[in-house]
Amino acid sequence: MSSTKYIFVTGGVTSSLGKGIISSSLAKLLQARGYSVTIQKLDPYINVDPGTLNPYEHGECYVTADGAETDLDLGHYERFLNKPTSQDNNVTTGMVYQTVINKERRGDYLGKTVQVIPHITDEIKYRIKKVAKKIKYDVVITEIGGTVGDIESLPYIESVRQLKWELGRANSLVIHLTLVPYLSASRELKTKPTQHSVKVLLETGIQPDILVLRTERKLSDDIRNKVALFCNVDRDSVIESIDVSTIYEVPIFMYREKLDVIVLKKLDLVIKKEPRLRKWKTFLNKLNNPKHHIKIGLVGKYVELPDAYKSISESFIHAGASNDCFVEVDLIQSETLHIRNYKRKLSDFDGILVAPGFGHRGIEGKILAARFAREKNVPFFGICLGMQCAVIDFARNKLGFEGANSTEMDPETKFPVIDLMEEQKKITQKGGTMRLGAYNCVLNKNSLAYMAYKKRNISERHRHRYEFNDKYLKDFENAGMKGVGINPGSELVEIMEIPELRWFVGVQFHPEYSSTVVKPHPLFVDFIKAAVMYHT
Ligand code: GLN
Repeated sequence: MSSTKYIFVTGGVTSSLGKGIISSSLAKLLQARGYSVTIQKLDPYINVDPGTLNPYEHGECYVTADGAETDLDLGHYERFLNKPTSQDNNVTTGMVYQTVINKERRGDYLGKTVQVIPHITDEIKYRIKKVAKKIKYDVVITEIGGTVGDIESLPYIESVRQLKWELGRANSLVIHLTLVPYLSASRELKTKPTQHSVKVLLETGIQPDILVLRTERKLSDDIRNKVALFCNVDRDSVIESIDVSTIYEVPIFMYREKLDVIVLKKLDLVIKKEPRLRKWKTFLNKLNNPKHHIKIGLVGKYVELPDAYKSISESFIHAGASNDCFVEVDLIQSETLHIRNYKRKLSDFDGILVAPGFGHRGIEGKILAARFAREKNVPFFGICLGMQCAVIDFARNKLGFEGANSTEMDPETKFPVIDLMEEQKKITQKGGTMRLGAYNCVLNKNSLAYMAYKKRNISERHRHRYEFNDKYLKDFENAGMKGVGINPGSELVEIMEIPELRWFVGVQFHPEYSSTVVKPHPLFVDFIKAAVMYHT
């Protein structure tokens, strides 16, 4: 019997209740009490991974250091725990079926009929346990995407039921998250949706051990008693999760509700010591008492859904707190920027960030945003496509390369300053893959990047196909835009800066994926610092 304990988090009544944040907060508390914890997300959709999904569907695609394209909840896990996740931390129905079907084609099932139970459920259970194989965690928290009762999540729920039975009491438990809505007409909190959703879970054979109730108002003792009685859970296992101003307060609220203590007791784990949350609380204190206020223009094309830039927004929160600064982020749809209006539309920002992205829609607006920052000497941070746009602007307007472009946008351009590299061209013809996951980079000591990181060797996560075309590097450097970060193996340029400007940095990688609460990303920290200085 393995000594890893398993916690399953399910959701009822409605989606978007914040299972990811509750899982992360519980994990944070257990970690702060000295346990090693990881969190895993099971996604019920049939896509093999979210890499091909439009960000409007489920928000941003988060990339792990080992190069998996995953659900954005993994970003929360890393930001809360300050520990990397891996490919094993995200499982989709597509992945599960693909594996089972491949096995069937290989003849692994020896002529048996392949079925949801046991073949699909076995594969799910294998993947739940696999996450604790390489690193032996004390606790694995597995979040089941979707809402109980959905057709799609049934195989996952059945796998949880089986695992709970196999692992036995004290080795696993189920936390069910539901909503207690407030009806303003009758001025009452209503528990019926919770009762119904627990009933649905019971029909699948699972009795939840702990209920976490999302609510806008405080729950009375009467309500807690009623829910405990009707849903068959211990009185102290009815947890209130009231709306808070920032997700980073949730661990503190869960601590007050004793969620961690109840979990440890039920899992027969020792309650070693009070959670060590000193750094976390310092962060919250700075976050809640800012001395400065700045405005950043975030130029992108997915602005209608803020989740599309989740990791960037969270990085601003971390970097803001570390600078005692409230960072107001205005999302600017790059398609609305034109040569006639871009100066006016971008005039009142203390810093401009041009976001990552794919395809040509909105690209000219992003190039104008980089141009504005360069011409007006406003702090500028370009991420991935954002860096590429800064390069294109510089080529067109400083080097006089008329029509310079990325071959992603214009395959016929006379000046392909951003292009596919030779090896990449071969792969792309075979169906297209990206440079994904962490790569090393060596910094030039004389750069803003080095000042931020304070070291020469860094490793950052990538997700792109196109690269700076280094055949033009000399032209750029002679005119004042320098390549200051180089990949040691391939010699690819990863960072471009304009040293004569205040703070102008473009990076080919995604720093936003590795910013955490206790370790804000150095480039975001320095970008905000530059913006604060520019503001004052
Ligand atoms: N579309 C660009 C590329 O593939 C940039 C990708 C990104 O911004 N993540 O290189």
